[in-house]
Amino acid sequence: MEPAELEHALSRTPSWSSFGGPEHQEMSFLEQGDSTSWPSPAMTTSAEISLGEQGTKVSRWTSQEAVEEGELPGLKGDDLDLGIEFSAPEAWGDELGLVEERPAQCPSPQVPVLRLGWDDELRKPGAQIYMHFMQEHTCYDAMATSSKLVIFDTMLQIKKAFFALVANGVRAAPLWDSKKQSFVGMLTITDFILVLHRYYRSPLVQIYEIEEHKIETWREIYLQGCFKPLVSISPSDSLFEAVYTLIKNRIHRLPVLDPVSGAVLHILTHKRLLKFLHIFQGTLLPRPSFLSRTIQDLGIGTFRDLAVVLETAPILTALDIFVDRRVSALPVINEAGQVVGLYSRFDVIHLAAQQTYNHLDISVGEALRRRTLCLEGVLSCQPHETLGEVIDRIAREQVHRLVLVDETQHLLGVVSLSDILQALVLSPAGIDALGA
Ligand code: ADP
Ligand code: ADP
Ligand code: AMP
Repeated sequence: MEPAELEHALSRTPSWSSFGGPEHQEMSFLEQGDSTSWPSPAMTTSAEISLGEQGTKVSRWTSQEAVEEGELPGLKGDDLDLGIEFSAPEAWGDELGLVEERPAQCPSPQVPVLRLGWDDELRKPGAQIYMHFMQEHTCYDAMATSSKLVIFDTMLQIKKAFFALVANGVRAAPLWDSKKQSFVGMLTITDFILVLHRYYRSPLVQIYEIEEHKIETWREIYLQGCFKPLVSISPSDSLFEAVYTLIKNRIHRLPVLDPVSGAVLHILTHKRLLKFLHIFQGTLLPRPSFLSRTIQDLGIGTFRDLAVVLETAPILTALDIFVDRRVSALPVINEAGQVVGLYSRFDVIHLAAQQTYNHLDISVGEALRRRTLCLEGVLSCQPHETLGEVIDRIAREQVHRLVLVDETQHLLGVVSLSDILQALVLSPAGIDALGA
């Protein structure tokens, strides 16, 4: 596969232009667009910087080209010393002290699906193919050759920042502290949720803090003096380390920093990593036997204590559950317990796009109907489907998870990219970053 072809495959994405962003603006599924252009009326304040296209990539495609010529990447031994020590953040709810105030309304279904076969599969030859592949490739290999990067100065007002995410069609932005002259964190849609969760009172009360606070002020209040460094990775680090770092820290955005200049070169996500693996999986890597086993047999995913939301529940309830449970999405169920949709953290940014964040009393069902850009229905899988089929669907649809349902659309579980990457890449190395 030509680099350009791979690049195209990796950056295909739905457009966010209907959110009010520049016309024809495309956002790659890894939260960066094709263009390096920056200015948008909402963004031209002195408190912002744009780094745009950076970094020359002389050897970028070397390992991929070697694979294109039919040469499998050389495999190292199994021993692994990651040398990474990141403190996993505590539960948001604990930090905010707000969890117990508004408990989730929906009971989670309890569906026993046994993890029967995965441990057996790990003992078979070929079980470590993906682990080795990710150890042998670097973050540099999976980076886009060119992408838009939006960066916020911490002195920017939070309202402008969230609007700017929408206007630029990006899901997250690194935060630049001009006093420290360094990147100090990320601003993601989860932060928007945290702000709303903390400050929303009622539809009748304007959220003063969202209008007035700077990002810096919010971070001081939220972090309460506890220093949490930016979690980042170097371009020369392996993709294995990237998977480990994302899952271990329970984050979804991993900036790749130039070790010399400290500039952000790219933001890696689970989707990008899975897509990278998937492209090679479908072409040059041998096919391990576990891809033909069913999800039910392998037990990959979460099947108990599922966080769900009723379609009739107010959005405020969904936000509470996001904060309390730290899950990336909620299956939306009807009164009969059937899955009728999916409300993800990503969808919350529509409240900023449509400036309706003062109306968190509307129902989740209504919010889903108001989405300007959405997938029809819910992308799901069934227990009898194979892991290979599930990976193909999740990669093709460019979503972060599939909902596991039975033939009557009743909820059985969630199969997320975190579960798949943990199973394919980390479990063969004996690492359980997800369960830790
Ligand atoms: P989302 O799924 O909404 O994009 P994340 O799961 O990545 O959000 O973020 C969860 C929390 O962790 C947010 O408060 C965000 O600011 C923070 N965060 C995300 N990525 C990083 C990172 N690379 N370094 C430090 N903090 C991060
Ligand atoms: P992110 O790139 O931030 O991880 P997500 O994949 O969570 O984004 O969500 C992107 C969009 O796709 C959202 O509108 C979300 O509701 C939708 N979506 C994600 N997963 C599913 C699914 N399994 N079924 C239906 N829609 C989904
Ligand atoms: P994610 O945040 O989607 O990357 O997933 C992290 C972990 O949370 C994975 O083990 C998922 O299976 C699990 N998970 C995701 N969504 C839910 C949910 N709604 N309820 C329970 N667990 C979930």
